[in-house]
Amino acid sequence: MRQIFLLIILFFVGQWLVKALRRHDAHSAQRTGAGGARGASGAAGNGNGAARPARPPQLAEPMIRCVECGVHAPKSDSVVVAGQPFCSAAHARRHGARPTGRDAR
Ligand SMILES: [Zn+2]
Repeated sequence: MRQIFLLIILFFVGQWLVKALRRHDAHSAQRTGAGGARGASGAAGNGNGAARPARPPQLAEPMIRCVECGVHAPKSDSVVVAGQPFCSAAHARRHGARPTGRDAR
């Protein structure tokens, strides 16, 4: 009976050890990464990271409609030239280089 009890304790201790090791690894990796980037801002970023749980999902990204081809593209992938959104830089260039640029200005 005593051996079973000991085994259970060993099991919990082992789990705790693994968890502690993992936490130590993550912590040291984070610290070296922040130190490699910048020391002062690393400390500030640490506090900020604790307050902010995660980034907003990509699905919430607003979509724009390409003036040239009418395709809807995510705003991060779009190119805005003279206040007009385009799906790509190529379309922005094509739109600007169009000879009949009636809406250019
Ligand atoms: Zn386009």
